[in-house]
Amino acid sequence: MSIKRGYTSAVLRVDLTNGVIHKEPLGETFARTYIGGRGFTSRLQYDLIPKDVDPLGPENVLIIAPGALTGTPAPSSSRFLVAGRSPLTGILGDANSGGFFGAILKRAGYSLVLIHGKSPHPVYLWIDDDHVELRDAHHLWGKDVHQTTDAIQREEGRGFRVAAIGQAGENLVHLAGIIVDKDHAAARTGLGAVMGSKQLKAIAVRASKSIPLSDPATFNQLVAELREIERTDKRAQDFKVRGTLGTLMDHHTVIGALNTRNYQFGQFEGKEKIDNGALAQYLVRTTGCYRCSLRPDKYCRVGEGEFAGTEVGGPEYSTAVAFGSAVGNDNLAAILKGNDLANRYGMDTIDLGGVIAFSMELYQRGILTKDDTDGLELEWGNYHAMLELIERIAFRKGPFADLLANGVHIAAQGIGRGAERYAVHVKGMTPAPLDARAVKVYNFRYAVGPRGADHLRISAPGGYALDEVPLLEAAEKLCYWQGIIAIPDLMGLCKFAYTYYTETPEKALHRTLDIVPALYTAATGFELTSDELLETAARVTNVERAHNCRLGLTSKDDTLPPRFTEDPMPAGPAKGKVYDILEPMKEAWYTVQGWNTETGIPKRERFEELGLKDIADDLERHGIDIS
Ligand code: SF4
Repeated sequence: MSIKRGYTSAVLRVDLTNGVIHKEPLGETFARTYIGGRGFTSRLQYDLIPKDVDPLGPENVLIIAPGALTGTPAPSSSRFLVAGRSPLTGILGDANSGGFFGAILKRAGYSLVLIHGKSPHPVYLWIDDDHVELRDAHHLWGKDVHQTTDAIQREEGRGFRVAAIGQAGENLVHLAGIIVDKDHAAARTGLGAVMGSKQLKAIAVRASKSIPLSDPATFNQLVAELREIERTDKRAQDFKVRGTLGTLMDHHTVIGALNTRNYQFGQFEGKEKIDNGALAQYLVRTTGCYRCSLRPDKYCRVGEGEFAGTEVGGPEYSTAVAFGSAVGNDNLAAILKGNDLANRYGMDTIDLGGVIAFSMELYQRGILTKDDTDGLELEWGNYHAMLELIERIAFRKGPFADLLANGVHIAAQGIGRGAERYAVHVKGMTPAPLDARAVKVYNFRYAVGPRGADHLRISAPGGYALDEVPLLEAAEKLCYWQGIIAIPDLMGLCKFAYTYYTETPEKALHRTLDIVPALYTAATGFELTSDELLETAARVTNVERAHNCRLGLTSKDDTLPPRFTEDPMPAGPAKGKVYDILEPMKEAWYTVQGWNTETGIPKRERFEELGLKDIADDLERHGIDIS
């Protein structure tokens, strides 16, 4: 049975190999079981991408899913997921973006887009409401994201929203992301390279429709309530003014957890030159995604000096660190230039900064010399070398950049000579700027994230204080909030607005567990209780775990890099701290999840509680022990 309200009813299936485009109805049972967004992408990754698929081969499937409320009048309902086997990590891959593209895709009529195969020549996917075509993209191949977006909008009209790859995606750089509306990024796990491998340069979408709602009056009432909560929430209003850069860099400095020189230190002596206060000299305006009233995102311009003329939507906190303290650089204009290059070439700034910082540490230690780096002098703070390296990585120019383009894990293996000891990653992914030694329980999330060292799958208000709580109790709290944090991913809402930047945990819970299910019901006509919503979140988490277990991952892969587990923090407020709770925390985590405490694999019983008997059976067919 197809769905008429809230969701838009079509699943768009595109086979690039033979150019066939097909639409089918979105099944009601599937929609109600997985809600949308990450629920759809994670289940379909399990179903459509078998164990031995090469991330850059035609069998990989690019799955795009707005959330259940994306594109509705709900506040900050801009988010959508892109997913597929990750070239960066080789495991479950997905990336979440805001902007306008996801909302317009949904309003054009699509709750799900599945892209199979590989085109024999460069194409882009053109969607104008019900009309869908593959169009030739020879003239766009080789262009950066901004040039591509401008060219499509020039040809088709400014009403088209564009998700595109830059040269990094074309060159199969494992750090490549998909850049949306020029300055928003579905950045993580290298899915830009998946698009590149399929010779799919861009997706352009225009919509003339709005999303039909089952009960518009109730929906609008709930939206008004959400707006009022946001308007009176001091934390949300502070975030509106300071954004991620202002709220996080100060705090992480105070607790000594700011990634500095490849996580060697937790405070940066040049912090005041690259923080939110310093950014004021370049700030042109603040901006935001579809239906966001907070609008804390920055748009900056460099007016004079070496980087005069640079304009960029950003930087977010993670990017300011990636091209700033992580590489010992206190030149803010160079950070903006790095951000602009990353957006144009289409790369994830966290992993890009991670691999550059890693190289600089190897240079510091003499493991790399100018002879290894194709002539680059990778001293800390050498922003010219950093910018040069960003460009070389995007084009895989020279053997050194070509190696770094595969991400920090593969690069470390290629370099050898003990380099792996300094590679800060989990399962191939670079963590966020918050040092795990300073905030231990909370940053256990890096060890067990299904995408790798992830900061977006697990989070908890007051989470930094969990280090003072008995481990099992701390793990329970983290596990509960893992479910809450998944709700925006399922619904297509922004985590910042609904959870992270909410004054009290009670307010975040009221929004996610009372108002969001009611919004879903008002949109779709389907009843949904808060318990059912949390159960769906747990179902999705376990599907993701099963995906990686089928690939052979077990508790041995839930780990943290030696930087955190072996090197005591040398200075600052976290001085002397080392990550010394990994094993007990794993045991507590597996216990609260209902997973085997030895292997970290979910048990059949847990799968069956969540309605995932088919996955339990499939894992057993693959010889995985789920007892
Ligand atoms: S808070 Fe930022 S990321 Fe979230 S919807 Fe608003 S502008 Fe977009």
